[in-house]
Amino acid sequence: MNREEELKIIEDMQAVANQMRLDDIEENPDSEFEMFECQCCGEEKSLAGSVVYDGIRVCNDCVVLAETGFSLGKISSINDLLKNMEDKKLEAQCRFIKQDEIEHNN
Ligand SMILES: [Zn+2]
Repeated sequence: MNREEELKIIEDMQAVANQMRLDDIEENPDSEFEMFECQCCGEEKSLAGSVVYDGIRVCNDCVVLAETGFSLGKISSINDLLKNMEDKKLEAQCRFIKQDEIEHNN
């Protein structure tokens, strides 16, 4: 699969996830303002558009990542995505600590 095809899939998944969010809001307008902590990205996100995979609720943004990952065969379960995100979170934390060190040295 080439880069263009990958981008097409990502765009399709974004459209699908966005539609899920709109459907949720239409069905239950409160869901747009009900927040939960996404177990994937760890951020407070709107309940609207979130999806439960294997008992794990993930936010609309992470749904795009999950569905894209499944389609491209990069992940086989939601746990794979969680693990991936965990690495990214660690990476972000490491950068933050390094930044802190630089500021302290000056
Ligand atoms: Zn998320």
